[in-house]
Amino acid sequence: MILYHPSMALNMGDYGISIPIHTDKNKMVLDTLKAGALKDIPETLWLRGPEFFAEIAQEDILRVHSPDYVHRLFSPGGIDKEIIEAYELDTLSGNGKRWNPSKLARPLKDFLTLSLINAGGTYTCGLTALEFRTGKQTGFACFLGGGNHHAQRDYGKGFCIINDVVVSLRKLQAEGRIRTAWVVDTDAHKGDGTAALTWGDSSIRTLSIHMERGWPLNEPGYDPNAVYDPSVSTDFNPSFTPSDIDIGIPEGRDADYIPRLAEGLSRLEELLPRPDIALVVGGVDPYEKDELASTKPLQLTKETLFDRDMLVYNFLRERHIPTAWTTAGGYGAYSWEIHVNFLGHIMPQRTAAAHL
Ligand SMILES: [Zn+2]
Repeated sequence: MILYHPSMALNMGDYGISIPIHTDKNKMVLDTLKAGALKDIPETLWLRGPEFFAEIAQEDILRVHSPDYVHRLFSPGGIDKEIIEAYELDTLSGNGKRWNPSKLARPLKDFLTLSLINAGGTYTCGLTALEFRTGKQTGFACFLGGGNHHAQRDYGKGFCIINDVVVSLRKLQAEGRIRTAWVVDTDAHKGDGTAALTWGDSSIRTLSIHMERGWPLNEPGYDPNAVYDPSVSTDFNPSFTPSDIDIGIPEGRDADYIPRLAEGLSRLEELLPRPDIALVVGGVDPYEKDELASTKPLQLTKETLFDRDMLVYNFLRERHIPTAWTTAGGYGAYSWEIHVNFLGHIMPQRTAAAHL
């Protein structure tokens, strides 16, 4: 089942922001699937819209983020500042790189509204994956959105205000729907917020495969040879908190990506066998055609990204682990192609076999 909400498309230009987020990325994915691979399949069999989206309440966010941060997010005087920091608008506006406040045509608090829909979408994605788990069939749902994996307990970061990944898993746990989970994060950037927010909790095991160098691991104080152990010291940037399995791919070593991911998935299974759900942060910004400058160290081809997605999908399906897939990062005019290749391949098979 695919989940889509039309309100997810914010036009960055309306806020004076120059980030190469394709406004219609998720709509492009949906429209291309409708016109192509899924055109002969009734939409009721594979698509769910806004009426299915659950709402996320403040108490859900408070399981993950600090009360002070949540207060700032929901206070009229605080939200703009949080958005400016999470999108690094202020620090870069001096050279006109990312933000021109004089072109602000809509309120920045729209980003909070978007983040809440986003978190609702990821949670609903989890619910839907669990709903379609029947007998030996593996439930699968893909939310065209989600994966705000950089948001930390006390602040937003990297275009992420609310960490929908952890908020959703904590909500599913609190409701007794799951006990354990894997997070499989294949976005180009390390899933640093998710690692910090789940550190020390053996009920959620995290794998992140990402650029070995570069943001957020290029921030001041980072030492690639250090052991960052929050049980010993919290005196470091939370972004340096290790995931249970971190796989850093050095620049120029793209050929290692698939074998190292396969090996990492096996290690994840050793750490926590048979979780109740897997949440995939399936960013496509490692794509060679991605237009965000910070993703340059990874240059994966369309074919490698298809192999990547199928490796993760089949690994989970063969183990009958309900799979909630989010689309996460992907910038510029071409990122939608990667999701279409993957979903256009698996969804006809799933609907034909009624494994929705
Ligand atoms: Zn990313």
